[in-house]
Amino acid sequence: NGLMKQSRNDETVKVIVRCRPLSQQEIGQGHDRIVRMHTDRGLIELRNPKGAADEPTKDFTFDAIYDENSLQTDLYEETFRELVDSVLNGFNGTIFAYGQTGTGKTYTMEGRVDVAEERGVLHNTFEHIFSHIAASRNQQYLVRASYLEIYQEELRDLLNPDARQKLELKERPDTGIYVPNLSSVMCKSIQEIRNLMGAGNSNRSVGRTNMNEHSSRSHAIFIITIECSEVGADGENHIRVGRLNLVDLAGSERQAKTGATGDRFKEATKINLSLSALGNVISALVDGRSTHIPYRDSKLTRLLQDSLGGNSKTVMVACIGPASYNFEETLSTLRYANRAK
Ligand code: ADP
Ligand code: MG
Repeated sequence: NGLMKQSRNDETVKVIVRCRPLSQQEIGQGHDRIVRMHTDRGLIELRNPKGAADEPTKDFTFDAIYDENSLQTDLYEETFRELVDSVLNGFNGTIFAYGQTGTGKTYTMEGRVDVAEERGVLHNTFEHIFSHIAASRNQQYLVRASYLEIYQEELRDLLNPDARQKLELKERPDTGIYVPNLSSVMCKSIQEIRNLMGAGNSNRSVGRTNMNEHSSRSHAIFIITIECSEVGADGENHIRVGRLNLVDLAGSERQAKTGATGDRFKEATKINLSLSALGNVISALVDGRSTHIPYRDSKLTRLLQDSLGGNSKTVMVACIGPASYNFEETLSTLRYANRAK
């Protein structure tokens, strides 16, 4: 599939799929399971609940798939650890959680901190980074974090208590894309970076009457910048900077279904704009032959421009639910993910 794809471990873009378990409510209501996962082969069979009995299932294959029994640490050890290692070595990396609301994006990205096995990507990343730093001998590290959201194509600083302020995206030839005035906070320990995330999460809900609805309509982007300085064999000090973007995307559900009109409809088109722009950028990168990568089509892709493509690594986790009433959304998520691969 194009020139950029080399050996499995060298891939710039990886797409994995995770299916959550049926919820208690879904079990109670007797919903059928329509997703079958053959984890050994990376094969997913999706059954159309309205299809004829003899209609074949739709099959999809991915780099890796995770069924309802998968653990947070399985994903971390098999997929994310390597990406975070490359950030520690001065490269950029991005992890996206994509999918319909309620399929496990936030569970995968954040999970629960109080239960060790339920810690998601953010918590495992914090642990990974700070234990790496603690074990290093000849390097000096500086870790900084920013946290922002994109809502209706507008950026908002989640670490600035006065978060009403609008942020702009700027570009400089030397340093690339940046956001003037975005808070960037130095973190010296796991506890500090965790607290920062918690503060950002609370700011996210300030002024929101329905937080679930808001989080399903906005993209949350936690950015960790790791600067490492080391005295080289030449006696000079060398500095490497890696940047990690951890992105909990807005829900991918099609808004037509929710019957949105007026402002809601406008909002919906903007959400879909960022998600479709992201899909276009990723598939252009994967294709490898595209001379034009359409980064400028949305705030999200512009913000992440320097971390998508080139030497950067990207992992997209497409989250799905197993129940029959989600067939259309699940199919659309698998198609999106399939296109990105
Ligand atoms: P999203 O962020 O995509 O809207 P959530 O992460 O909030 O979805 O997940 C919806 C519900 O499903 C939550 O109660 C969450 O704890 C649960 N859940 C999601 N994924 C899993 C999983 N892999 N294992 C167990 N529970 C899960
Ligand atoms: Mg969520």
